[in-house]
Amino acid sequence: MTNRPSGDKSPSGSQRIPLIAGNWKMHKTNAEAVAFLEEFLPGAGGRPDVEVAICAPFTALRTVAERTAGGPVMAAAQNMHEASSGAFTGEVSAPMLVELGVEAVVLGHSERRELFGETDAALQRKVPAALAAGLVPILCVGETEEEREAGEMERKLRHQVQLDLAEVAAEDLPRVVVAYEPIWAIGTGNTATPDQAQEAIGFVRALLGDRSQEAAARTRVLYGGSVNPGNAEELLGQPDIDGALVGGASLDPGDFTEIVAAAPR
Ligand code: PEP
Repeated sequence: MTNRPSGDKSPSGSQRIPLIAGNWKMHKTNAEAVAFLEEFLPGAGGRPDVEVAICAPFTALRTVAERTAGGPVMAAAQNMHEASSGAFTGEVSAPMLVELGVEAVVLGHSERRELFGETDAALQRKVPAALAAGLVPILCVGETEEEREAGEMERKLRHQVQLDLAEVAAEDLPRVVVAYEPIWAIGTGNTATPDQAQEAIGFVRALLGDRSQEAAARTRVLYGGSVNPGNAEELLGQPDIDGALVGGASLDPGDFTEIVAAAPR
């Protein structure tokens, strides 16, 4: 079981502890992860009121977990299989991650949905499997540019949130982190405006509220899509935005430190 606080016990008294998660994707060898951590970790403790996750490739997870153990940063995976073990060549299970000291896992990233055929049906099994193992699932949802232009954003978000969380009991929803990542903003430099991000994340929270108002008030919802040191503060200042899932800008220890520092106090 993770030893992290859930998002509803902020020492500062606000309900949801900000989470800044860096998604390295398929970047950084183990040696490069070591070099990053040596630069990043000394400054990362500056915000004990913020949780930080480094979502590293499988090959660097043991390194990240060992070097961050007991500190303010947690190691996170970028995917997992829903079964604990079995004949699933090339896959990794939640208990395998937990044994390494991994505390969270990104699920349903748009790159996995689009490039590797990850389905809502699989996510419906993966999210509870992650929770059962004691991992924090970071569930990604979001619309394409075409869907937004066609006025389909809410339909897409409703579909993903309802299906992917269908097997999670309402009282367990606050143990899940949802990341709203408009696909048109990922890796493009086209960040959603703070108003667009707030509107979509407010809608995600309303969807959670359809299950339980109390859970919705306690569940963290992040924004992801071209977050950088220049736009982080305004995005993170929106009332429903509880943190960020950061791709490209998390690869540089200086940029990632600045984004962590931009979380509201
Ligand atoms: C991501 O990979 O989830 C992401 C948001 O990437 P970027 O910050 O590079 O857009």
